[in-house]
Amino acid sequence: MSHKEDCIFCKIVAGDIPSAKVYEDEDVYAFLDISQVTKGHTLVIPKKHTKNIYETDAETAGKLFTRLPEIASAIKETYQPIGMNLLNNNEKPADQSVFHLHIHLIPRYGKGDGYS
Ligand code: 5GP
Ligand code: ZN
Repeated sequence: MSHKEDCIFCKIVAGDIPSAKVYEDEDVYAFLDISQVTKGHTLVIPKKHTKNIYETDAETAGKLFTRLPEIASAIKETYQPIGMNLLNNNEKPADQSVFHLHIHLIPRYGKGDGYS
C-alpha cells in the first residue's frame, strides 16, 4: 500500500494514529472526524495515498466512490440524521487542510445542527 511518511491520514490507515473506525475494507477506510461538525461527521479515504482529486487515478476514485452509498447508509442507520451532505475540498483556497484525498460525510439534523 503506498504510504506517505509525513501524512496524518496514512498514519491513521497504518494504525500509528488512533481513530474511531466507521468502515474498512482492503482499499477504503472511514473514520470519525476529530472535530465533529455534526454528530457522526465521517471522513472516507482511499488507503492508497493521493493528494487530492487532481492527482487521483480513476481506479482509486472508483474504489472510493463506490463505497459511499454503503457507508452513508450505515451512518444514517446509526445516527438517524434527517439529511446528509457529502463534501470534498481540494487545495488550500478551497479549505483542504489535510493533503490526502477525503470525502466528508456530514449528517444533518435540522436547523441549528452546527453546519450551515
Ligand atoms: P479538510 O479541511 O482537509 O477538508 O478536512 C480535514 C479534516 O480532517 C478536518 O475536518 C479535521 O478535523 C480532520 N482531521 C485532522 N486531523 C485529524 C486526525 O488526526 N484525526 C481525525 N479523526 N480527523 C482529523
Ligand atoms: Zn496519505
